[in-house]
Amino acid sequence: MSAAANCGTLRAASLLLILRDGIDPMRVLITGAAGFLGSHLCDRFLAEGHDVIGMDNLITGNTDNIAHLAGNRAFRFVHHDVTNYIYVEGPLDVVLHFASPASPIDYLNFPIQTLKVGSLGTHNTLGVAKAKGARFLLASTSEIYGDPLIHPQREDYPGNVNTIGPRGVYDEAKRFAEAITMAYHRTHGVDTRIARIFNTYGPRMRLDDGRVVPNFVGQALRGERLTVYGDGSQTRSFCYVSDLIEGLYRLLMADFDQPVNIGNPSEMSILQFAELVNRLTDNPAGVIFKEDLRIQGDPQTRQPDITRANRVLNWEPRVDLPAGLEMTIEYFKDRV
Ligand code: UDP
Repeated sequence: MSAAANCGTLRAASLLLILRDGIDPMRVLITGAAGFLGSHLCDRFLAEGHDVIGMDNLITGNTDNIAHLAGNRAFRFVHHDVTNYIYVEGPLDVVLHFASPASPIDYLNFPIQTLKVGSLGTHNTLGVAKAKGARFLLASTSEIYGDPLIHPQREDYPGNVNTIGPRGVYDEAKRFAEAITMAYHRTHGVDTRIARIFNTYGPRMRLDDGRVVPNFVGQALRGERLTVYGDGSQTRSFCYVSDLIEGLYRLLMADFDQPVNIGNPSEMSILQFAELVNRLTDNPAGVIFKEDLRIQGDPQTRQPDITRANRVLNWEPRVDLPAGLEMTIEYFKDRV
């Protein structure tokens, strides 16, 4: 092992001790802090007594998501685009890289920014982690499996991705992000974690982000028909945000550098999902089948195999879909 790698391992071991004993507050950098997951992560780390620097360029994030943290002395927001050089004064213990457009509509609207934040942004955040001796956690995605040919998806499945399809900008950026994360781990001894995040929902999703949960809930609350793309037979597995954040926190704490799927394995067709949303909102309008431009490359099935998360993190989701949707519907009620 190189001196750098050795040093990284020692630091990782001591960091782990500190984390386990819960003695010292950590100083944590969260990129994408004003986004859906980033803002929930800020809350979680602050609740655990850590200091958080939240960074976001706000192209898809929204400061409303972190407005409640204004005045919190343990939190600081920095408006910055992480595809440019990142300067953080003082020590850092953890870097969580969550900056990226993450909904198909967002990454189709910002294709070059999506490629840049996954590549240059991951390079810069890894550079910060290396310089500070911080542990690094990458927000990767089930999209790295593309339109999968095995089902459910295990972490050793290399994926089926069309580089030049509409989703390629996100999928390939995240695949590059995983590759450079492992390169920094192997070459520089940076202590890294890779979370492959499957469809997640909950409060603070943007009503207009185009994803199926805000689309359907928004339409249902307005009494409209739900727009089911294609024939609705494509499947997804939805994880409530609190379960996901718990999985991420455990992954950060664990001594494990290989990718880990984090998501809810309970799978259903999009048509079944639409019917559930209509039932929970008492929406009599039904559904309308629509062609969507994105349909080309729309993965037909998606379900995480969470055996690894279960074994390594002793984690599994706890919130079932109706309960999670009720909380999400409550959140969107004030916003439609
Ligand atoms: N979808 C739909 N109607 C909508 C939005 C999405 O039927 O109004 C479908 C979409 O075609 C996909 C699934 O719901 O099969 C999940 O889409 P989403 O945009 O939430 O994320 P994805 O899982 O495709 O990244």
